[in-house]
Amino acid sequence: MKFSEEFLSKAKTILSTDIRYIKGVGPNLAQILYKKNIFTVEDALFYLPKTYENRANIKKIEELFEGEKAVVIGKIVKKEEIITGNGKVIWKLIVSDDTGFLECVWFSKTNYIDIFQQGEEVAVFGEVKAFRRTFQTYHPKIVKKEKIDEMKIGKLVPIYVVSDMYENSIISRVIRKILENHREIIISLIPERIEKEKKIISLQDAFLKVHIPEKYASGIEEIQEARKRILFEELFRTQVSLFIKRSEVNLKKAPQIFVSDSLINFLLSTLPFKPTSAQLRAIEEIRKDLMGPRPMYRLLQGDVGSGKTLVAFCASFMVCSCGYQSIVMSPTEILARQLYENFQNFGKALGLTIALITGSTKKSERKEIYEKLNSGKLNILVGTHALIYDDEIRPKKPGLIVIDEQHRFGVLQRLTLINKGEDTFPHILVMTATPIPRTVALTVWGDLDISVLDEFPPGKKPVKTKVFRESEKFIVWEEIEKELRRGGKVFIVYPLLKESEKLDIPSAEGMYKTLSERFSNFGVGLLHGKMSGEKKNEVIKSFLNGEISLLVSTTVIEVGIDVPDATMIVIEHAERFGLSQLHQLRGRVGRRDKEGTCILIIPDNLSENSEKRIRLLEREQDGFKIAEADLEMRGPGDILGTRQHGFSDIKIEVLKDTKLISFAREIAKTVVFEPKLAPEEKLEFEKKFSVFLGDKSHFVISG
Ligand code: ADP
Ligand code: MG
Repeated sequence: MKFSEEFLSKAKTILSTDIRYIKGVGPNLAQILYKKNIFTVEDALFYLPKTYENRANIKKIEELFEGEKAVVIGKIVKKEEIITGNGKVIWKLIVSDDTGFLECVWFSKTNYIDIFQQGEEVAVFGEVKAFRRTFQTYHPKIVKKEKIDEMKIGKLVPIYVVSDMYENSIISRVIRKILENHREIIISLIPERIEKEKKIISLQDAFLKVHIPEKYASGIEEIQEARKRILFEELFRTQVSLFIKRSEVNLKKAPQIFVSDSLINFLLSTLPFKPTSAQLRAIEEIRKDLMGPRPMYRLLQGDVGSGKTLVAFCASFMVCSCGYQSIVMSPTEILARQLYENFQNFGKALGLTIALITGSTKKSERKEIYEKLNSGKLNILVGTHALIYDDEIRPKKPGLIVIDEQHRFGVLQRLTLINKGEDTFPHILVMTATPIPRTVALTVWGDLDISVLDEFPPGKKPVKTKVFRESEKFIVWEEIEKELRRGGKVFIVYPLLKESEKLDIPSAEGMYKTLSERFSNFGVGLLHGKMSGEKKNEVIKSFLNGEISLLVSTTVIEVGIDVPDATMIVIEHAERFGLSQLHQLRGRVGRRDKEGTCILIIPDNLSENSEKRIRLLEREQDGFKIAEADLEMRGPGDILGTRQHGFSDIKIEVLKDTKLISFAREIAKTVVFEPKLAPEEKLEFEKKFSVFLGDKSHFVISG
């Protein structure tokens, strides 16, 4: 089917209509829907049932058993209104088939009582209770026998809100209304021919089957297939957005960087240590990219301590060796400073000029750095992500941008600022210490090429990890004391900075006082994100030089602080963190040759499942495996470091389905890149794309 542009924009308008303007909704019902994150018609369609109730269990009365939900068809043999001892009224209809009696009981008056008369044939649906020797059911649904269809008895009924049947019926009603009146607005972006070839069912049918199963689906398998089809559409759209973004990058020219083997060998010979084979592989992948005509667009993934800094340095050196400049950005000042120091150290023998700009850099110094950068005298500038918004940064020959620890979204989208609209575009290297399962990587970073550092530099030992309960805290304090006496350095991390009214859990600030007293023989410090950059640096410095040996902190230490001789990390209320985050945190200790210890404290009354989740860290050291487990148990929000990514439930569901993701990726590739698409198919797709996705790229959330 072909769609006119007009029709497509009309469809788009309806899809983005506020739900309260749908006939029969209005402002009051809309409140219920808003609470479920259903704001538009499109949201409603994509609000898929959590489960289905099978009301097909039609039974003879003698076959009933306590606790089951069943339908009974029979005749009303008696109507009763009973006044109990304490003056309450109970209404009863007694229904009989030829095998027994079922008492339908109401404890408040319902209009069923007036509607139904003795002798009528009815169908009853409810939960069966065995009471003395009769069967009862309380507040059942009941309809005339011939209207059994209306009651959806004997059918699968979609359940959107498990706990609230009223809300459930509202949501169901609204979605049905939309499908009744507007089903033509459901338009797949997958070209029809490909749908046919790949035996993909129509998207419209899929929505009908999922939301109105009693009419359109033959059973639960068909519903499941339909649900998959809808998820597939989501995935396809995501992948298409990513490929299109990538193809835009591919249109740009990049500074061509030629790096000879001998130059590489020279570089490697000047480094303070021998790169691991994973580092060498990544360096080689980057070198190939840099030599190509298009901008590199690459993600470097590697667990904490895997040595990403060295790789970023080598990439920067290659670019500088051809007269271009490199800009390296970190999320925090502390990290920027550490990167800078590492770069200085690596660059000593190579005569590179490297500068650092942070929030605490003085104005005059800052000006000097700008001048050097913009006139081309500076080789490498290190700073925080804030550099991106700094108008005065106009590097003369930008060759490479390195973004460290980019699991916070947004920075990539602003890169054009540095580019100032020219048609050459710097090479880009994004680094993350968050091991992301492949499925998530392809969905979140699907537009980037990926290098992985799956090996640690020699000497790095696993972090010994042990879980304690709160009632065993005194043991933990003793362990800390022992560690401090031995001359170790200890982090202790709290989920909150300040006490909160809502949560009765200790905070970093509160515990800083307590711990300062408990460990008064040792230097105790406090570090958190609300401190000024200067203050933070001061604290870190004291921790580095040993004035402080117990550092109480919030998760500011999560991203990459390098305190090479930190030996122990204690995390209170570990259950409040994602596994990947805990793994990141423990990566702060036992770097290089020092063995590290991680102590996780959980509440005494934690559920068995949550405890099991945390205890995985006692035996698993592989960040990727931990991330997989996190994904399995809590969804991708945790892995990515924060829970606010705009991942809806169904997107989260999708991320667990590796096969479906690969399939969507394959089809998306065909549609975006393959010339096999006929010109009119291409046109049709582009029309749909610009109407439906032009203004939003699905997972890639701009900042
Ligand atoms: P991350 O990947 O977490 O950013 P870093 O780049 O900070 O890791 O490296 C972790 C530590 O390992 C640093 O102290 C660094 O100097 C050291 N290191 C990196 N590569 C090597 C190597 N090939 N051999 C020995 N030590 C290394
Ligand atoms: Mg790092």
